[in-house]
Amino acid sequence: MVKVVASCQCGQLKFEAESEPVLELICHCPDCQDALQADFANIAFFKLGESLVKGELAEKIYLAESGNETCRQYCVHCETVMFDRSEGFPNLLGVMVSQLYPPFESRAMCHVFVRDKKAGVEIPEGMKQYETGIS
Ligand SMILES: [Zn+2]
Ligand SMILES: [Zn+2]
Repeated sequence: MVKVVASCQCGQLKFEAESEPVLELICHCPDCQDALQADFANIAFFKLGESLVKGELAEKIYLAESGNETCRQYCVHCETVMFDRSEGFPNLLGVMVSQLYPPFESRAMCHVFVRDKKAGVEIPEGMKQYETGIS
């Protein structure tokens, strides 16, 4: 049973999941900033085995400090960044919360790579924070 759906701007690239995300976070790392051209990324991670990706995608690969490769995958047509994959989390698929629908109420549990946070970005009080990643 499909519970969560995401789509790029043009609708060519689609995502479906049968289960709720196992983890949701806000990432301030430079790779996310670069890929999204945004101050940070709000990413929900789903189990790969319980999710399905349809459509053509391209990817941009980054090398994390840990030595693991991470990549951001985007639609070949409209270039909407949809997914975050990392060697460090081989069983998880990160999906940009902004592309989930119906509009998904963000329930981020923590902020990561706070070290790289842009100066103007506020983190709500009481939110768990990590200087770098959580792996
Ligand atoms: Zn597209
Ligand atoms: Zn990131």
